[in-house]
Amino acid sequence: MPNRLTVCELSRLLSRRELSSREATQACLDAIRQRDPVVRAFLHVDEAGALAQADAADAARRRGRSAETHPLLGIPVAIKDVIAVRNQPLTCGSRILARYIAPYDATVTEALRRAGAIFLGRLNLDEFAMGSSTENSAFGPTRNPWDTTRIPGGSSGGSAAAVAADECSAALGSDTGGSVRLPAAFCGVVGLKPTYGRVSRFGLVAYASSLDQIGLLTKTVRDAALLLETVAGHDPLDSTSVAQPVPPYAAGLDQSVAGLRVGLPREYFVEGGLDAEVRHSIDRAIAQLESLGVEPVEVSLPHTRYALGTFCLIAPAEASANLARFDGVRYGLRVEGADPIEMYARTRGAGFGPEVKRRIILGTHALSSGYYDAYYLRAQKVRTLIRQDFLDTFKQVDAILTPTAPTPPFKLGEKLADPLQMYLSDVFTISCNLAGICGLSLPCGFTTSPKLPIGMQLLGPPFGEEILLRLGYAFEQSTDWHRHRPPL
Ligand code: GLN
Repeated sequence: MPNRLTVCELSRLLSRRELSSREATQACLDAIRQRDPVVRAFLHVDEAGALAQADAADAARRRGRSAETHPLLGIPVAIKDVIAVRNQPLTCGSRILARYIAPYDATVTEALRRAGAIFLGRLNLDEFAMGSSTENSAFGPTRNPWDTTRIPGGSSGGSAAAVAADECSAALGSDTGGSVRLPAAFCGVVGLKPTYGRVSRFGLVAYASSLDQIGLLTKTVRDAALLLETVAGHDPLDSTSVAQPVPPYAAGLDQSVAGLRVGLPREYFVEGGLDAEVRHSIDRAIAQLESLGVEPVEVSLPHTRYALGTFCLIAPAEASANLARFDGVRYGLRVEGADPIEMYARTRGAGFGPEVKRRIILGTHALSSGYYDAYYLRAQKVRTLIRQDFLDTFKQVDAILTPTAPTPPFKLGEKLADPLQMYLSDVFTISCNLAGICGLSLPCGFTTSPKLPIGMQLLGPPFGEEILLRLGYAFEQSTDWHRHRPPL
């Protein structure tokens, strides 16, 4: 069953001609047909397009010399429906873009296309990536492959669920406050949020521009390293992307982690806030790393308690500005009215769901004259303190270890009535975006009954992806959490 293989395993079989890309792609399409009516990770499947790409990849492999062949040639992947793929739907999980087709490729899409990856289709998400459970999708929620009465996390819930359900080999997501790492933890896969500026966001529909970053969801750390190598780098089309050389992430994975220092922030291990089974798994993971020679060090990130409040001002403020472009004139839905103002109001009234409206109203308020200084400006100052906490801490340690989420995945509907409870799911992931640093979530255990995945988070300094991947890889190689499969 090639759909169950990792990207690296598939790549090896493809290069030895023991498997064709058509077979690998067909296996994913079969898995989608079988499982996705329940999991609902995909909003759109491009069966014909994917098979045509696969045939082209097989032909290219026959022609090319293997030394020149990109390891992703012929590998079936899928992309969150907030990142543009030319001539495919780009709905952002919203009614306002329900019929919108992307006219161009995002830079990351183009990089994958150049490498020869196969695009299976579009993955479900919370509307405009606003949410933590994928329940805010206008097209219905995705379900957690480990327990289909539960949420997969969000907002890249479709991406994580599709990888966990073996419907694709790897997926792209986006992470503004945890949207790659939280669903990765909840679905038992690897999720990497690169440093702000590491990966171009050209072609990613903006939610909160100072926080957004494209990330990867994979079955293993090695796959994440390989994908990061492929999509990272400077892009003249995104002025926030940084001209830092892209290291050979995968080649560096085998280096020893002995002697590395990993910080355990006191503020993340408070009694009461953390589920007991999550706590237990994290404690065991720390002991495991210690047995590999890693030195755990207690550290403090004193402004942690302000992170959620800061995020809840900055993200909606930027969202309210970014979403102004959906005006019934340029993109997607238009509901006519007597005059342009009425048309605008009706279009947005009908096109946006309740959570998006809540964010736009919150953000507009925080930016309005008379409140700007008290809310937005103050939040920006606190954000600087949060970033400084991290930069100071990274003078003492190589990385920071925390749980990815305070609880295991919850039931569908459980937190829908209480937005604050929902926002609290991100309490351990948002600081990373506010600080602009990188973060990796990887499987580190399961709850006992029912069996649900638990994730641990490693945070690294700006452009410190190498260290995170190396630590994650060493941990992964010494455990077998990533080999468990959901009971589908
Ligand atoms: N859950 C957070 C929010 O709702 C973050 C989402 C994200 O990272 N895109 O805004």
